[in-house]
Amino acid sequence: MDDLGRTVSYLRLSITDHCNLRCLYCRPPEQVPYIPHDDILRYEELLVMVDLARELGIGKIRLTGGEPFLRRNFLFLVESILKRHPEVDLRLTTNGTLLPGKAKELKDLGVNNINVSLDSLYPKTFARVTGSDLYAAVRRGMDEVMAAGMRLKVNAVALRGINDGELAGFFEFIRHNPVDFRLIEFMPMGGQTMWSPEYYWSAPDILREAEELADLTVEKRAPGDSGPARMYRVDGSLGRFGVISALSDHFCHSCNRLRVTPDGNLRTCLFSDKQYRLRPILRHPRLGPEMVSRVMRLALRKKPLGYQILQQRKEAGAAIHGMMSAIGG
Ligand code: SAM
Repeated sequence: MDDLGRTVSYLRLSITDHCNLRCLYCRPPEQVPYIPHDDILRYEELLVMVDLARELGIGKIRLTGGEPFLRRNFLFLVESILKRHPEVDLRLTTNGTLLPGKAKELKDLGVNNINVSLDSLYPKTFARVTGSDLYAAVRRGMDEVMAAGMRLKVNAVALRGINDGELAGFFEFIRHNPVDFRLIEFMPMGGQTMWSPEYYWSAPDILREAEELADLTVEKRAPGDSGPARMYRVDGSLGRFGVISALSDHFCHSCNRLRVTPDGNLRTCLFSDKQYRLRPILRHPRLGPEMVSRVMRLALRKKPLGYQILQQRKEAGAAIHGMMSAIGG
């Protein structure tokens, strides 16, 4: 438990900063150096991180990136984690481009929840946002995830002027598909991404516009669900609609998550620049996992309230320093 009484139960483990998409809102278009290969946590080290998370009582782990499926033998990592910790609720976040052909195997390994990021249901808009023509592959991957009986969440960054005309299409999509479709408020990240108020489509605006199109019923939170999404049931639909209001309505008081970057930096708050460099400790011959565990416990206790940091930065441009493609969303 941290000093504010929050129980941390969720680790987002970003396993690579490489991605095969160039989303306008994520990685700046100009060349940004990748993390040097030797600094990326090896699979054995990622397994140690999972062990330590388990010792802290963390039961839910999400593998993210960059694009996690770009990491060589990614399914082997998934298998190794679940063999070692079959009780872990292991989830994945992916852009879906490399999903086709893998859903059944993932399900057999014990993965039951996959989040796919998809900002548009129009191939042309998808190409505009991501710089890629892999829309059909993403849709195929999503279909296979549903066919394999896994829970699918679809995350779209809400972008005024880009996908704000698609609300009716999003509702049509959830009418026929048993997915949680969530619009995420566009967050101003460090680096030269395209964030500007003109693209910002706020959660209250989304909801106002959504209510004109569909009958929304607020979903009561399941016990233990402290996630950031506010979910709605929609009359006559197999799926649900949700909004993640990272900026307009913070959820710091129920935040239960830690993040570890591909190079082994622990971040206890998305909005804070403070990083605890775990890799040198993990690799130090006289320190190792035991000391990493101590640092994690200490860091966890001091987990900040992100909205206070956001407030301080309001006037200062980027709200979040560092890139999502490394932090993992
Ligand atoms: N490659 C994977 C994917 O596409 O889901 C995982 C990494 S990606 C950085 C994780 C999530 O962060 C995606 O849903 C993406 O849309 C979201 N994201 C990235 N930059 C964002 C921003 N500036 N504001 C809001 N969400 C963002």
